[in-house]
Amino acid sequence: MKNNIALDAFHYGMGTQISHRVYGSNAKEALNAAQGEAKRLEDLLSRFIPQSDVGRINASAGKVQEKISKETFCVAKSALEFTRLSDGLFNAAIGPLVDLWDYKHSTKPPSKEKIVQVLSLINAEDFEINSAQMTAGLKRKGQSIDFGGIGKGFASDRFIKIFTDYGITSAFSNIGGNVSTLGSKPDGKAWRVGIKHPRQDGLIGAVAVNGKAVVTSGDYERFFIDNLGRRFCHILNPLTGYPARSGLISATVIADSAMTADALSTALFVAGIEKGLEIIKKCDDVQVILIDDILTIYVSKELNQKFDTITDISVRYI
Ligand code: AMP
Ligand code: MG
Repeated sequence: MKNNIALDAFHYGMGTQISHRVYGSNAKEALNAAQGEAKRLEDLLSRFIPQSDVGRINASAGKVQEKISKETFCVAKSALEFTRLSDGLFNAAIGPLVDLWDYKHSTKPPSKEKIVQVLSLINAEDFEINSAQMTAGLKRKGQSIDFGGIGKGFASDRFIKIFTDYGITSAFSNIGGNVSTLGSKPDGKAWRVGIKHPRQDGLIGAVAVNGKAVVTSGDYERFFIDNLGRRFCHILNPLTGYPARSGLISATVIADSAMTADALSTALFVAGIEKGLEIIKKCDDVQVILIDDILTIYVSKELNQKFDTITDISVRYI
């Protein structure tokens, strides 16, 4: 019989809020281990920590390859795979463009000249990883990698692995809106994961899942509005150098792996519906909930019995 006493934990890590709910007798130990893991991963993957693996790779761009941990290698390898899979719309080497747009402080877009100049540095083919040496490096000075679109998903997968190692069979983690579930709820029912309304407080819908990750990329997460009232969001189109304007304002991906869901949701946000569907056709067992700028919701038909809208917004199954 499952132990149905919940233990909740909240902490900060990887630049965002993290919460967990864990059921079972080892819940406390499992939560402590997850919190420690979040710190450990941030120390490896953050580009804002100079001695992290990513910090060192970026500082050594155009000079030397850096020794990296197996975790960083795993994220880097996946980031490059999703770069290829999305024809570069998800881009492992987007760092210089993210720096240029500087969401934390900007109030207006950078100049066209600056964007063109920085775009010439964005080339994921210049990011090389070596599994024999466990090294990684960038070919040109000024280039940088950024795992902001994939790292939280990797951390989510690690949390679920830790819970499993502690004998937990029912849990969920939410890292900055990236939700991962382990098993079902203790009563055997599916978890219901809320999908945020992109233009209002509260939810637009919810999806029932067991043991899956549900990850959303949206233009409401981080953005600034300039003095002409234009919204500039934190997800950038590596082809244009500007924030993605694909017609989608929210892209949710449901997959077994949170890292896959994280990278794909970022890719789909940039790609838009048509190209996005081509991308997910290449992946196994991945479903989507896509919301366009007139608030039509496009939902994978596999989710037909699993997705409910909170409001009477129109849903199209695809
Ligand atoms: P997410 O919220 O998972 O979609 O990730 C957004 C974050 O990923 C941004 O804050 C950037 O750090 C990074 N990012 C922005 N645009 C891209 C892109 N086209 N490819 C990969 N990472 C990106
Ligand atoms: Mg992402």
